[in-house]
Amino acid sequence: MSENDTIFGKILRGEIPSKKVYEDDDVLAFHDIHPVADVHFLIIPKKFIPSLAEATFDDGPLLGKMLALAPVLAREQGLTDGFRTAINTGRLGRQDVYHLHIHVFGNRPGGSPLKVMLGRD
Ligand code: AMP
Repeated sequence: MSENDTIFGKILRGEIPSKKVYEDDDVLAFHDIHPVADVHFLIIPKKFIPSLAEATFDDGPLLGKMLALAPVLAREQGLTDGFRTAINTGRLGRQDVYHLHIHVFGNRPGGSPLKVMLGRD
């Protein structure tokens, strides 16, 4: 599968819109189109890596950057009292979009604790 085949490839190329949270040379973060909590965004690498199963040790710095961005962006989005991260991987891991992504989602302070896990049912 090439990057052309994924919806996130189209978002990276600006072919379809997204609600951007953050962007730099290596990564893009944008709000999930079907949020499961008050705040729900995705952090993706600009490099095409289909899933965590295809990531290599050489991708370590990129993966580390994505992970380290999660709490920074979560705080900026108002998640100051905790949040959840998820990386769905492969068919049995309930991955739908085969461009690696970290889900970051949570409810605002004073709201309900999260009950949801991803996948959705
Ligand atoms: P996963 O099941 O981990 O592959 O999650 C894919 C996520 O991408 C789901 O939570 C979808 O709601 C989300 N998604 C799909 N299409 C879009 C889109 N065009 N913009 C933002 N999020 C999307």
